[in-house]
Amino acid sequence: MLVRSWYNFPAMAKLAEALALTFLPSTCAICSGALAWSGSRAGICPGCWGRVARHTGPLCPVCGSPDVAAAEPCLACRTAPPPWRAAASVGPYEGALRDLVLLFKTRGRDELAAPIAAMMADAFRRAGWKRPTSVVAVPMTWLRRLRRGYDQAELLGRAVARELELPFVRAMRRRGRGAQVGRSRSERLRLPAATFAVRRPVAGAALLIDDVFTTGATAASCARALLGSGANQVDVLTFARTPQPGRIP
Ligand SMILES: [Zn+2]
Ligand SMILES: [Zn+2]
Repeated sequence: MLVRSWYNFPAMAKLAEALALTFLPSTCAICSGALAWSGSRAGICPGCWGRVARHTGPLCPVCGSPDVAAAEPCLACRTAPPPWRAAASVGPYEGALRDLVLLFKTRGRDELAAPIAAMMADAFRRAGWKRPTSVVAVPMTWLRRLRRGYDQAELLGRAVARELELPFVRAMRRRGRGAQVGRSRSERLRLPAATFAVRRPVAGAALLIDDVFTTGATAASCARALLGSGANQVDVLTFARTPQPGRIP
């Protein structure tokens, strides 16, 4: 009988493996490769974390554009200065960085907020900005918030605030739809600019957090609302920046 029970061992091993696969993510959410025990974070393998491209060359100190020859304000910022003081991002919206944004934003991988926020805090320190008074986030619509039960931009904003040891204020409210993802550039340009309002005014310098800097229209609209209700300065920090965005001043 004892011998017979040993025959069941492969079945038990299969069951244990099935249980492990159910409860532990075993493959990387980006490359589907095996997740190494060391270096993997939030279901992403160390190789994919290493492939997150960061800006390395000179950046426009005002809008964060990498399409400049030197770290001086670009032509767009010189001709039509945006309402914020400075904007920066971790890297271009492509490759592994883009995959992370999509996993976080559309696949509900909330555990990515902390490692993404850590990279954004690094970008903040690299930019050499003065410490702001508070951290605020570009809000999503109340409908999306209601559907999900929480706001992902707020999750990211709170994680960045934790990294920088600053208070987070749920300062903004989004009016109307105004979502930019999935819209063409001409559609985005036609969107009404005033889709944001301040629900809780912040004084002093605000650090505005968003996942992707696209045209700058969203950041400009939020910055105007914040400046119009008590903030004396707004800096914009995003995880990604779409390549060569046409900025709306
Ligand atoms: Zn991977
Ligand atoms: Zn610029």
